[in-house]
Amino acid sequence: MVDSTSKPSKDDSLSPKEEREMRETLRDIFATDFPNPERRECPENAEAKLKALAWLRRFPEAQQIISHLGSCSPCYQEHEEFVRQRKSRQTLYRLAAVAVLVVGVGFWASWRFLTSGGTILPQPAPIVQTPQSQPQTPEPPVQEKQPPEVQVAVLDLTKRGVARGESNNSQGDLVLPIGRLKLSIYLPIGSEEGAYEVRIAGRGHSLKAKCQAAVRDHITVLTVGADTSAFEAGRYVLAIRQVGWGWYRYPLKMK
Ligand SMILES: [Zn+2]
Repeated sequence: MVDSTSKPSKDDSLSPKEEREMRETLRDIFATDFPNPERRECPENAEAKLKALAWLRRFPEAQQIISHLGSCSPCYQEHEEFVRQRKSRQTLYRLAAVAVLVVGVGFWASWRFLTSGGTILPQPAPIVQTPQSQPQTPEPPVQEKQPPEVQVAVLDLTKRGVARGESNNSQGDLVLPIGRLKLSIYLPIGSEEGAYEVRIAGRGHSLKAKCQAAVRDHITVLTVGADTSAFEAGRYVLAIRQVGWGWYRYPLKMK
């Protein structure tokens, strides 16, 4: 059991390589752990919607479909494929823009050469701008800083009850910081010890982890490492289940 209350040291921080491996494992889990051969609860016209999502379009059902991706491997795989296509398309656009620029400069140079009667005269530099309008990679900017510190965070669900489905509650939002987290989740009173799964999904991001719950001072506590560095601020859904049982969902705000 990881003690989430102790201060993190260098030794218990994941290296970038380990982090990458963890992300790949998560991706594998999403891609295979929810077979759904009958495509139950898949959105209508799924292909078009998954594609729209991969191209980061806004549309009314987007949030719902993002949540669905966390529990349907076929849809997740299709979505990943569309994301891959988008990225290779954007690389192509960029190469094309560079090619246009190179050809343009070539033409300009030959034209200058011809119109100056064979001698290139010193001229002010041509106004050639790198195309600004080409599609920008919508990935979050790479932050050039050392691996972020692990933050200790607590989510208290003890008074939230165990309403199934998306519960609207009057106790305010659950709030999590963005970053590398050592998360302690105090489960609703009466929750059993044992193996659990935790999922945070929304806004095109999702994260899933398996962990153990143990009773501490009469409270059942789940302790789990979660890296939400790639997440953006906003609303998400926290889903928790004891392995083999149904999911409980809680609205969650990341900031
Ligand atoms: Zn589906």
